[in-house]
Amino acid sequence: MATINDNYLKLKAGYLFPEIARRVNTFVEANPDADIIKLGIGDVTEPLPQACCQAMIKAVEDMGDRATFKGYGPEQGYGWLREKIVAHDFQARGCQVEASEIFISDGSKCDCGNILDIFGKNNTIAVTDPVYPVYVDTNVMAGHTGPAKDNGEYQGLVYLPINAENRFTAEIPRQPVDLIYLCFPNNPTGAVASKEHLQAWVDYARQHGSILLFDAAYEAFIADPAIPHSIYEIEGARDCAIEFRSFSKNAGFTGTRCAFTVVPKSLKGKAADGSDVPLHPLWNRRQSTKFNGVSYIVQRGAEAVYSEAGQAQVKELVRFYLDNAGIIRAQLTAAGIGVYGGVNAPYVWVKTPKGLSSWDFFDKLLHTCNVVGTPGSGFGAAGEGYFRLSAFNSREQVNEAMARITRAFSV
Ligand SMILES: *Cc1c(COP(=O)(O)O)cnc(C)c1O
Repeated sequence: MATINDNYLKLKAGYLFPEIARRVNTFVEANPDADIIKLGIGDVTEPLPQACCQAMIKAVEDMGDRATFKGYGPEQGYGWLREKIVAHDFQARGCQVEASEIFISDGSKCDCGNILDIFGKNNTIAVTDPVYPVYVDTNVMAGHTGPAKDNGEYQGLVYLPINAENRFTAEIPRQPVDLIYLCFPNNPTGAVASKEHLQAWVDYARQHGSILLFDAAYEAFIADPAIPHSIYEIEGARDCAIEFRSFSKNAGFTGTRCAFTVVPKSLKGKAADGSDVPLHPLWNRRQSTKFNGVSYIVQRGAEAVYSEAGQAQVKELVRFYLDNAGIIRAQLTAAGIGVYGGVNAPYVWVKTPKGLSSWDFFDKLLHTCNVVGTPGSGFGAAGEGYFRLSAFNSREQVNEAMARITRAFSV
């Protein structure tokens, strides 16, 4: 009889989004005429930049022509894409990253999970609370945790609470931890990290031989010129950080699929015999064994993000969502509701009014405004009393949702 990976049985069965769907469905059954506005899910709503579409149409034609047809590409991604990434995203910002350190993939979600393949079983792992659930669940699947406790936390993980008091940037832990997930601009809180805060993490990691797993999926939303876009803007980060980037949120590639991971060649981990082993060849080996690359067509689409037209179109997309976030912030503030984030990120992190729990506020918004958001407690125990609203929607829907909330909550 085949046995299973019992770690999967520890997972709290995808509780958050199914529970949201259940409550929305119940409401819609009772109120079939309700016009529901969804500001809950972290998916983009605007179409792809024209530059990316044109490049992909051209690439499809390449594939249909014997002279330009492509079979398997390099597992690490085409050099022309990696060169453009390095020039625009890193060297232009003074970061020392080489094209050979870029690994193109079909998503940051998979990279964040797959990266655990190259790390040992006995690392102490730190995540923020609240957190993007992928970091936690992939560690549960890999057997890096004990069972879930009653409050939803897993035994064996180190949770670093982030809240209004620490400006949603985790304090540096007192105990040594080996792998630390950081996400800035943050999903779900919309917070950003200053250069000084990131420097403190890099210094900590270098002192303890830890690795930072830095998720920069939302870097394009940084409007404040003082905020770093990459961990490699921080002195010493090449010795302690892996960075995850994605075309999903800047260029609307959530359904097209392209991302990349940066593994500096200077990065090392400890082998069982105590020797220092570079991580770059391990990740290269992992990817070339378990992955056959991203489609040529999609990589051409991603390359077009870096063309002059592509850059202008991406900037416009990001501006559009940030303006939505600005409207959400302004309207909620005017209604007397506390808000965080939404300035350098597409998420507004709302302090639930009148001390309501995250789920009570969810129900109230659904029933009185027919607006759906995401309860903060779904991202971790410390998210209780908060609520995430996403700026990914049409201007019309955002305005309508805010008008309803203002009517319902203004005194
Ligand atoms: C959306 C998102 C990503 C991107 O995931 P893809 O698989 O590249 O679409 C990565 N990290 C966070 C925190 C996200 O919210």
